[in-house]
Amino acid sequence: MSDRLEQGLDAMRGQMDTRVMSYLSSCVHCGICADACLFYTETGAARYTPIYKVEPLRKLWKREYTFWGKLASSMGLVKPMTESDLSDWEELVYDGCTMCSRCSMVCPVGIDIAYMIRKVKEGLAAAGYSPEGLVEAGKRALEIGSPMGVTLKTLQATIRVQEKETGIPIPLDVEGADYMCLFSSGEIAGFPEFIGSLAKIFKATGVSWTISSEYFEATNTGVQLGNSRLAATLVERVVSAAEKLKAKNVISPECGHAYTTIRWDAPNIIGRPLPFKVVHIMELLDELRRDGRLKTEGIAGEKLSYHDPCNAGRRGGVLDQPRNLLDMVAPDFVELPETGAMNWCCGGGGGVSSNERADALRLKVFDAKKRQLDAVQPQGLVTACSNCRHMLEDGLEEHDMHDIELLGITELIADHLVEETG
Ligand code: SF4
Ligand code: SF4
Repeated sequence: MSDRLEQGLDAMRGQMDTRVMSYLSSCVHCGICADACLFYTETGAARYTPIYKVEPLRKLWKREYTFWGKLASSMGLVKPMTESDLSDWEELVYDGCTMCSRCSMVCPVGIDIAYMIRKVKEGLAAAGYSPEGLVEAGKRALEIGSPMGVTLKTLQATIRVQEKETGIPIPLDVEGADYMCLFSSGEIAGFPEFIGSLAKIFKATGVSWTISSEYFEATNTGVQLGNSRLAATLVERVVSAAEKLKAKNVISPECGHAYTTIRWDAPNIIGRPLPFKVVHIMELLDELRRDGRLKTEGIAGEKLSYHDPCNAGRRGGVLDQPRNLLDMVAPDFVELPETGAMNWCCGGGGGVSSNERADALRLKVFDAKKRQLDAVQPQGLVTACSNCRHMLEDGLEEHDMHDIELLGITELIADHLVEETG
C-alpha cells in the first residue's frame, strides 16, 4: 500500500465517528437523494447520486468496522482499497458537491450526506487528492489570513473609501464593543458597500461594533478543503481576535458556509465552547427590526425574489429573518418555487467557487436556478451570501439573464434606512 493511500485511509479512519457509522449502517439504498441533488438532476449522471459520493468512506467502514466485512477481509474475500478509491472520487466530491444538504431533506432516514462528504474530503486531502485552486486558497488563508489574499491594508483602504462615501467613521479595534464583525474576502473585494451599509445601519440603530485588525476573515477554507487542522487554526484566530477585543458577540456576515462553521461547527472543530455568541447579520438586523430600532422608509419598486443561501437557510435556520426584512421594503415580493429550506443551491458552495476546474460543471448545474427564476421572473434577486451573489452573477451572465438585478439584503435595507435614531 502506498504512503499516500495509507495517509488518506488513516485520515478517514480518524473521521469514523458514531454519527458516520450510524448513517452508513442505516442507508436503505433507496436512491431518493439523487433527485434532490442539482448535480444529478442537471447532468443525469448516476455517479452524482449523493450517497455514491461517500463510497470511499462506506467501503472503509464495511471492511474495517463491520463484523461481516472484517471476516470477509480476513479471509481475503474482498479486494483491498486502492489509490483509485480515492483519486476517482476527487472530482465527484470537490467538483460535484456543494455541501448544500438538499439531499438530506429528502432522505427517509435523515442521513446528513454533507457531513459525510466533509469526512471523505479529509481522506482525499490527506492523500493529496484535492483541487489545486482550493489547495492554494487554503495556503493563502493560512499565510495571509484570507483565501483570496485580502490583506489588512486592503481592508483599511476599503474602510477609508466607505467612510468617505457614508461620512461615518468605521470602528477598528475598539475594545469592549458589543459586536465584532467578520467579513468574507469576497465581500471586501466584491461588495465593499456592505461595510458602509453596516456602518449606516449600526449608527442609526445605536449598535456598538468593531472590526479586528488582527483577524477579520469569516471564510474557513479548512472546512471546504477537508483539513481539520487548518479549520481549527482559522477558528482559533477568530477566537483570539474576539478575546483581545473582549467582544461578547461575533457577527457572521453575508456568507453562508462561514455561518455554519462559526455558529454550529466551531466548538467541535476546536474542541471547546466559543467564548462569545455568534449571530448571522440577518438575525441581528431582524432583532433590531423587531425591537423597533431598525426603521426603513420607501419601497423597492421592482418585483423582488429571494435566494436562500444553503448554509444560512437550510443548514443554519436563517429563513424567516431575511423575509421579515424584505417585508419592510419589498411589497412586490415573490417566492421562488421550492424556496426556503428546499431552495436550490447557487452551484458554488462548499469550496466549488474556489475550484476553477469545476467552473463548467458549476455553470451547467445553474440550470436548476434558472428554472426557478424563469417560473416567477423577478426583476431583482436578493440574497444574503456574497459567495452566492458572485455565483449568481456568473450564472445569470452565462445564461444571458441580464435583466435580473442582484442585490445584497443589508445594502437594500441600508438604502431605505431612516437614519435618525428615535
Ligand atoms: S449536499 Fe447538495 S450537492 Fe452535495 S450531494 Fe447533497 S444535494 Fe448534492
Ligand atoms: S436517500 Fe438516504 S437512505 Fe436513500 S440512498 Fe440516499 S442516503 Fe441512502
